[in-house]
Amino acid sequence: MQIEIDGIVVEVTKKSVKNMNLRILENLCVTLSVPKSSTYAEISGFLHSKSNWLKKNLDKMKKRGIKPAPCYVTGEEFYLFGERYTLIVIESSRYSLTIDGDKALLYATSDSDKAHREKYINSFYRKELKEKIDFYLPKWEQLTGLHSSSYQIKNMKTRWGTCNTRTKKIWINLQLAKKPLEALWYVLLHELAHIRVYDHGPAFISILDKHMPDWREKKSMLDS
Ligand SMILES: [Zn+2]
Repeated sequence: MQIEIDGIVVEVTKKSVKNMNLRILENLCVTLSVPKSSTYAEISGFLHSKSNWLKKNLDKMKKRGIKPAPCYVTGEEFYLFGERYTLIVIESSRYSLTIDGDKALLYATSDSDKAHREKYINSFYRKELKEKIDFYLPKWEQLTGLHSSSYQIKNMKTRWGTCNTRTKKIWINLQLAKKPLEALWYVLLHELAHIRVYDHGPAFISILDKHMPDWREKKSMLDS
């Protein structure tokens, strides 16, 4: 269950505990564990009494330079292929995610925590990205005459894609599901070009120039 208190979303979990325990995690996500018998009124009353403490400590942590990471709670930004949506978490018996206008509705079980929701959202991104790659990779292969042996999606920290020139296998970063489609086209072409040219020298650039004259613009979408 998620409760908003003065603009701060608190993740509330019922547990076998005696007292309510409010915590701010390292990523600035706020969690509250409560005894199983707690009522909504008790929980909300407790949170109201702590709202100043919460604000003060969150501000202090932000000033120390701690950057918030996604908590996958209501009100957060959600990106899919360059479009920005507002995430709304709704309690449900099973997980699903649907886009509805400018909202991304995430249905999640009542006992879900951040890790569960992150895992589900990543599986959603993977499915969406796979659909796009299955559609666009053959198109770029046909256009360039450069063919990969297979591809795989992987959550990567520092690279948008890689290509094994020997096996011709391509790896695509899962995070591309958040970026505009043009950014994915650029990465597909970039990795296919590596099948012929190992480095980023003139021969490589000429493949990009030939098939995507505005590749620099598309590349810049990845840096922002
Ligand atoms: Zn490269």
